[in-house]
Amino acid sequence: KVVCVTGASGYIASWLVKFLLSRGYTVKASVRDPSDPKKTQHLVSLEGAKERLHLFKADLLVEGSFDSAIDGCEGVFHTASPFYHDVKDPQVELIDPAVKGTLNVLNSCAKSSSLKRVVVTSSMAAVTLNGKPRTPDVTVDETWFSTPELCEASKMWYVLSKTLAEEAAWKLAKEKGLEIVTINPAMVIGPLLQPTLNTSAAAILDLINGAKTFPNSSFGWVNVKDVANAHIQAFEVGSANGRYCMVERVAHYSELVSILHELYPNVPLPERCVDENPHASTYQVSKEKIKSLGIDYVPLKVSIKETVESLKEKGFVH
Ligand code: NDP
Repeated sequence: KVVCVTGASGYIASWLVKFLLSRGYTVKASVRDPSDPKKTQHLVSLEGAKERLHLFKADLLVEGSFDSAIDGCEGVFHTASPFYHDVKDPQVELIDPAVKGTLNVLNSCAKSSSLKRVVVTSSMAAVTLNGKPRTPDVTVDETWFSTPELCEASKMWYVLSKTLAEEAAWKLAKEKGLEIVTINPAMVIGPLLQPTLNTSAAAILDLINGAKTFPNSSFGWVNVKDVANAHIQAFEVGSANGRYCMVERVAHYSELVSILHELYPNVPLPERCVDENPHASTYQVSKEKIKSLGIDYVPLKVSIKETVESLKEKGFVH
């Protein structure tokens, strides 16, 4: 079977490509710059890559850019989207590539007669920010959808980019009669295959690289291997549909620090929160739907350990 992965050099996508190759798929992988070894070396050295991995150059902002990568595929995994917080012009750097890129990819999908299903990497960012309270007794599920106005009012540009991109995906899929499924992970951690540092793994690195304080935030956390597997299940399981939230556990940064302390008693860790406000509340995220794809989450403590070991091995830890 032939499938396409957009943004193949990324953190999540690299694991997805690895698992697809190991399951026998032929993978057409889009990258922005196929000549940059930092973006491709780890992919071309995967088992099965020599025989079944094909690289394509494509940019989210260039119309028709994905046509040749998608042509002839039964499945498309659309993961490419910028994930940064430090941006000067959110419209240009985040929102346009996320939204126009999604439309661009789905329009290429609509032209392909072989295509059966598109799996879009959305985010819990497109789920949780809707003004409803999130407290330990509240369970967030797939019926929640973030409100663009709230994202904008709170200047959460990345969150806005993912919310608008998912909205646009559902709208276009309906218009074009495309079958799409979205995977909505929270903060993804676990081992890195790529040589560069990605935003979510950096959240763990910051805690062990000499920070004096930890952020006053609670996020959902999930292992990158579970996220990659869920993408494949969402393509392979005939009854897969709609959205799939992916959170093993919501934890405040203070809990992450405690877990790190248990795992690495000799590593200096931030001792206090960045502010004196009450700690941001945790909440529950439903695991019912993701269970139907056969995903049994890696526990947070294991994910944290795998992240740290990988960051050490890659030389990111001071
Ligand atoms: P990475 O930063 O590792 O990967 C992002 C990918 O998007 C890269 O391959 C990058 O290509 C590509 N990309 C960015 N801009 C463009 C563009 N203009 N044209 C083509 N490709 C582009 O991030 P992740 O693996 O973490 O994220 C992958 C997906 O998962 C994204 O959609 C993200 O929103 C989503 N996600 C991530 C979470 C996380 O915690 N990591 C949580 C929830 C969702 P290049 O290598 O050329 O820069």
